[in-house]
Amino acid sequence: MDQLASFIAKTKKRSTHFIGYPGAVDFDYSELFELFKYSLNNVGDPFVDSHTDMHTRNFEREALSFYADLFNAPKDNWWGYVTTGGTEGNLYSLYLARELYPNGMVYYSESTHYSVQKNIHLLGMESIVIRARDNGEMDYDDLRETMQFHRQQPAIILANIGTTMTEAKDNITEIRSILKKFAIKQHYIHCDAALAGPYLALMGRGGFDFSQGADSIAFSGHKFIGSPVPFGVVLVKKSHKDRIGRSIPYIGNLDTTITGSRNAITPVFLWYAIKKMGRDGMLQRAMDALDTAAYAVEQLRAIGVEAWRNENALTVVFPQPSEKICHKWQLATDGAISHLICMPGVTRGHIDAFIKDLGNEPAQLLSQIRPIDFVLN
Ligand SMILES: *Cc1c(COP(=O)(O)O)cnc(C)c1O
Repeated sequence: MDQLASFIAKTKKRSTHFIGYPGAVDFDYSELFELFKYSLNNVGDPFVDSHTDMHTRNFEREALSFYADLFNAPKDNWWGYVTTGGTEGNLYSLYLARELYPNGMVYYSESTHYSVQKNIHLLGMESIVIRARDNGEMDYDDLRETMQFHRQQPAIILANIGTTMTEAKDNITEIRSILKKFAIKQHYIHCDAALAGPYLALMGRGGFDFSQGADSIAFSGHKFIGSPVPFGVVLVKKSHKDRIGRSIPYIGNLDTTITGSRNAITPVFLWYAIKKMGRDGMLQRAMDALDTAAYAVEQLRAIGVEAWRNENALTVVFPQPSEKICHKWQLATDGAISHLICMPGVTRGHIDAFIKDLGNEPAQLLSQIRPIDFVLN
């Protein structure tokens, strides 16, 4: 048990230097601990009640309808479930797209999350990687040129609503105008909104919802909402989903989800977060986090670090600092850039402490934090 105690002590300490990955840290689910005493399982479809009462589908449905509403899903034509995370939501959506268009071509930008390539491989789909601009957004000129050659094929577009490294958003309107230009009527747009979707929609700055052309949307629950265990949400047009799933007598349910047994606690986390914060509380929390992100850019620039962020992004990008700093602050790096993410719970105090450490880097190291040539203002 010493091993456990020392692990808990270390985790507590390291959690105060956790600004490199997108997990909100301001949650408190202690009121729900009682649930851990029971064997709960949401196996199968959340909209079909099963033989037993040991599930939380009613909470799951309520939480899903909050997001269906937020993402302007067609009133009587949406469906979804609480997944294991953003990856499963993307996998499920691509699976639906493949069932609709078995000979479709998947287009996604080079800034796309690494799991998408694996998902496409698992599903055996044909795909093309589109170039990204320096800020991480899809290069629409490249998309246009590429699509022109494949206009006889249905198009499945995986749009990023916040890329992993720079939180860039692909423009659905632009993508749709390209589809229209080539008269590609058979198309499917999936929005990978893992981190940014839940708060951009609250701000009315989505541009990616069902009314704007999305066929499915997936996001991670442990990112903006925050959770001690990973989870996610996928929402799709019900008419798409009705093409798959078969009835399984053994579970008294429909096999519509990727996994069989499903976590019954995480849907309650999501429901609880929605109830506790409310729409306004969540919006305020997003605004506070964006404020911290603006502060971080300002403070980094004040010490000569060329930091920048995309519009409405919690992710602050800057040239990679020393190994020591990256380790201490658990920063993600990719090529020559690093980022910190001002998730709810990351405070100005954290930023100040980080900047103090950065300012203490030996002069020759700090000089390696050189300006990059795609600084946005
Ligand atoms: C985090 C992330 C994912 C993967 O989500 P998980 O919840 O970790 O499975 C997918 N896409 C993007 C853009 C992400 O940032």
